[in-house]
Order: sequence, then structure tokens, then C-alpha cells
Amino acid sequence: MSTKTIGVLTSGGDSPGMNAAIRAVVRTGIYHGNTIFGIKKGYEGMIKGDISEMNLSSVSNIIKQGGTSLLTARCKEFFTKEGRLKAYTNLKKYGITSLIVIGGDGSFRGLHEFISEFDIQGLGIPGTIDNDLYGTDYTIGFDTAINTALEAIDKIRDTATSHSRLFIIEVMGRDSGYIGLHTGIGGGAEEILIPETTSDIQRLCQKLKAGHKRGKQSSIIVVSEGDEAGNAFEIKKKIETLVDWDIRISVLGHQQRGGSPTAFDRLLASRLGYEAVCSVMNDEHDKMIGLIHNAPCLTPLEETWTKKKRVDKSIINMAEILAT
Ligand code: ADP
Repeated sequence: MSTKTIGVLTSGGDSPGMNAAIRAVVRTGIYHGNTIFGIKKGYEGMIKGDISEMNLSSVSNIIKQGGTSLLTARCKEFFTKEGRLKAYTNLKKYGITSLIVIGGDGSFRGLHEFISEFDIQGLGIPGTIDNDLYGTDYTIGFDTAINTALEAIDKIRDTATSHSRLFIIEVMGRDSGYIGLHTGIGGGAEEILIPETTSDIQRLCQKLKAGHKRGKQSSIIVVSEGDEAGNAFEIKKKIETLVDWDIRISVLGHQQRGGSPTAFDRLLASRLGYEAVCSVMNDEHDKMIGLIHNAPCLTPLEETWTKKKRVDKSIINMAEILAT
């Protein structure tokens, strides 16, 4: 293991648990004799030179905080060669040899591009609520996001039951159905619509009608924002004349990205931050550190977006059976 000068940043969409990962990188890095620099606002801070050395107390009391203490950004300039050259010049100014990027697939594309042009060692840590990255069973923030959504769904169920209503609840996830599937199962939804499956509106309406006839006091459809059947409003339009339910809509927005991270996310982020530093010291490069079957695992950065992480079919089948 060789010691390095490591820069750490968070980039793209924030997710709860990023702070726990930053803390683990800083504490593990310093423990092993590395020098750690924090870079503010992702690639933007790298280009602007918003870089400062971190010590053990820089990360005190952040493990329980949502968001990211290093701040995050989407940075257009980093898409250009000139922008990346400015970023490289700044890293060199501080003697930074290695970069740990906590973010999603966009941030990893940027990192891959950057380290293929310049002599900087790069490692990624998966931080996104969408859980859509190939190479890890779970991404940092997913567990907190589904717990936040679930809390909202439980509350909506109460009022839906009081008024005998059907609620269409839209959750985040971009083109991935992980949040929808997991919150749908956890919330006992009557129907779960996710991009990975085709949505049969006729069958859906028959099922909702049958439930109503059986005396169900409420029904919930959880729809992922990227579902092919449309968003919650479009689905309402498609079904309102076909079912005998009084329909309401609830779109759960950015609250899913905030809040104090769950125990699961804190532990996951701590493990990945720790492992990322060990991997950097072992001269691993151009890879993402993830957890597969609860063991640390390195995946080439490029595979994290070229390969598709599939939603487990057996879980989809189970959800169908339970949601009657
Ligand atoms: P996420 O990491 O959450 O998927 P984004 O897709 O917004 O977030 O990407 C974060 C940032 O990564 C972008 O704003 C940009 O600065 C950088 N980035 C993404 N793709 C590339 C690319 N192909 N080349 C250079 N930089 C990129």
C-alpha cells in the first residue's frame, strides 16, 4: 500500500449518506498516512480551485446529516477539454495524485473522461437514491429515499382509507424502477408501475374494480417517474373513466433526496468510503467500489453505465402476487 494525496468530491444529484462516505474517506485516509483534500461543489470546485485540506475534525458530526457537506453541482464546463485542463492544473497545484468521486453514472462518465486524459488516479463511490448503478447491489441514499417515500405512502394510506379513495403516488428513480418497486412492496400498493415492466392499463383497471367490489377501503398505485404509461396525471386520465374509484394524486418530490441517512446507508457509505481509500492505496484505478452480496467489489467505471443493472424478476413476480 502506498500513501497518496487524495482529493474527494461529491457530484451530480445529492443523496443521504454522502456525508458518511466523505467522513470515512477522510478518517481512513488520514489513519493510513495519506493527505486528504476536500473539493467543494463537485467538478465546478475543481475548475475554480475551491480546494482545502481536511483533517479529522473536518468531518465531525456529519455522519447523521443529509445532503453533502462538500456541496454538489452539475458543471457544464467539465464537459469541455479546456474545463478539464483547468481542473487538472488545480489538482497539480495542491499535489493531488488521486481523486475519489462520490456520485452517479454522470459523475463517473466525467471522471472516466478526465482520468483518461490526465495522470490522475480515479475511483468512484456510488451515491444516488436511484440505485441504478451496475456493480453494486445498493447505492448510497437508496435506503433512506425508500424509507422517506414509505413514510409518505403510509400516511396517504390512512387518508385514502378514511375517504375510500384511490391514490396514484409518483416516486423518483429516473428511468429505474428500484424506488417504485421497493416502496410499492413496502407500502402494500395494489399496483406498482415501473419502467422495467410493460403496463397493461385494461388489466390494471379490472384489478382495481375487483378490489373495489371486494370491499377494499383504499387502493394505491405507485408509479415510477420514468414509467412508459406516463406520469401520475397521465395515468389518472387514462383510468378515471374506467374505474369506480375517487382518484387523487400525490407526487413525492425532492423530499426523497433529503433527510438524515438510515443506519443502512450510514454503514454502506462508511464501508465504501473505507474501501475506496484502501483501493486507492492499492493502486486501483478507473473503477467503482461497490458491495455485491455484502462484499466489497471493484467494477470498471465504464461498466457502471454501459451495463444495465436489472431489477430482480423474482421480486417483480412476488410483488404481483402480494398486490391483490
Ligand atoms: P449524476 O452523477 O448524479 O448522474 P450528472 O449526470 O448530472 O449527475 O453528472 C454530474 C456531472 O458530471 C455533470 O454536470 C458534468 O460536470 C460531469 N459529466 C457527466 N458526463 C460527463 C462527460 N461525458 N464528460 C465530462 N463530464 C461529464
